[in-house]
Amino acid sequence: MGIRLGCIADDFTGATDLANNLVRAGMRVVQLIDVPEVGAEGAVGAGAGAGADADAVVIALKSRTVPAADAVEASLRALAWLRSAGAEQIYFKYCSTFDSTPDGNIGPVTEALLDALGSDFTVATPAFPDNGRTVFKGHLFVGEVLLSESGMRHHPLTPMTDSNLVSVLDAQMKGTAGLIDHAVVGEGADAIRARIRALREEGRQIAVVDAVSNDDLVRLGAAVRGMPLVTAGSGLAIGLPANWGFKPSRAAAQLPPAGGHAAVVSGSVSAATNEQVRRFLRGGRPAFSVDPLRIADGEDVAGEALEFATAHLADGPVLVYSTEAPGAVRTVQGRLGAAEAGELVERTLARVAQGLVERGVRRLVVAGGETSGAVVQALGVTGLRIGPQIDPGVPWCAAALPDGGTLHVALKSGNFGGPEFFTDAFARLGQEDS
Ligand code: ADP
Repeated sequence: MGIRLGCIADDFTGATDLANNLVRAGMRVVQLIDVPEVGAEGAVGAGAGAGADADAVVIALKSRTVPAADAVEASLRALAWLRSAGAEQIYFKYCSTFDSTPDGNIGPVTEALLDALGSDFTVATPAFPDNGRTVFKGHLFVGEVLLSESGMRHHPLTPMTDSNLVSVLDAQMKGTAGLIDHAVVGEGADAIRARIRALREEGRQIAVVDAVSNDDLVRLGAAVRGMPLVTAGSGLAIGLPANWGFKPSRAAAQLPPAGGHAAVVSGSVSAATNEQVRRFLRGGRPAFSVDPLRIADGEDVAGEALEFATAHLADGPVLVYSTEAPGAVRTVQGRLGAAEAGELVERTLARVAQGLVERGVRRLVVAGGETSGAVVQALGVTGLRIGPQIDPGVPWCAAALPDGGTLHVALKSGNFGGPEFFTDAFARLGQEDS
């Protein structure tokens, strides 16, 4: 049987966030890292680790901040693959802070997907009330404040100075945008569908949809049943699976049994990760600190880390980390340059992860978005079956290794996860075994 829902996400951690929400709503989900060749047999099975099939596939692109033409090209390739895999509905996933300037990619990608699908209308809502993202009268709120008054106005790559999404989309698209406001959404799916009909008759291509609660997203989900394309943050995933009769179930998050050694590789320098490392060290657990300046001096830091790990894997989990407080990171960046330091550390940690897997690690936590990307690439992982959630937004996943084995991996972006994440994660996996 083909997949039901085909998703195109504009970045990696956003893809995982969406996949995690779909699993929690009862779908079995595989996340693919970039687009497989069209017709590539078994890509979904490869992601599954155990060859099982999936109800939804999320393709993770890196298209958020690339030029619009490149984002369109990658998104159309993803669409072609998803359609060949049988997807009945397409979900274009972007950030819940709608990271996209007037020259941004959300509008052009949406229009290209509509064209390719032979469709003339879709909806847009980045709302994710559980994470404090709400849309009211077409304006996006981040917590208590308008997007344009939030930290996003100073974002280095996608500064957001207009919180009115109708005008943001109007500026980005050839077509025109309209609004389905909160009063209509509150009335339910029939009222939303009637408003969609009216907007189409006015010749509009897209409707920004208000949503301030999960109930709003559930009503919207029911209203867009059968719509070829929807566009949203990860929140709308709450409301879609029910259209195919899926209900929340533990079975959707089932992974193959886990085994092997356990390790954590942390290249994140964010506050939450610093605390997680501190807690792990305070617990007296085996940990090896990676010093970027020693890597820059040409020392074999990866080799030392692996030697340390080999001696301690039996009492794992073992932690290998470059995580430092902001002051220490600034010092290193001042000496090496931020980009150079980042790359050196990512390359080293990716080699460590490879060596750990060679030494029998089969349960691996990686902290850091960029670090996760480097590790996954080094391991030759192309797909992940999404399993049970550890903490909000971070699930365990099962990945097929190139040699046919299965690796359980949790990819944690910087500020996610509770303070004991590096031990809680393994306990969570254990529970799924029993
Ligand atoms: P996060 O998700 O917390 O932003 P990322 O892995 O995406 O984590 O980004 C952290 C960046 O900082 C990476 O490029 C990583 O290589 C780099 N880095 C990690 N440790 C250090 C360090 N001690 N000094 C300088 N840069 C570091």
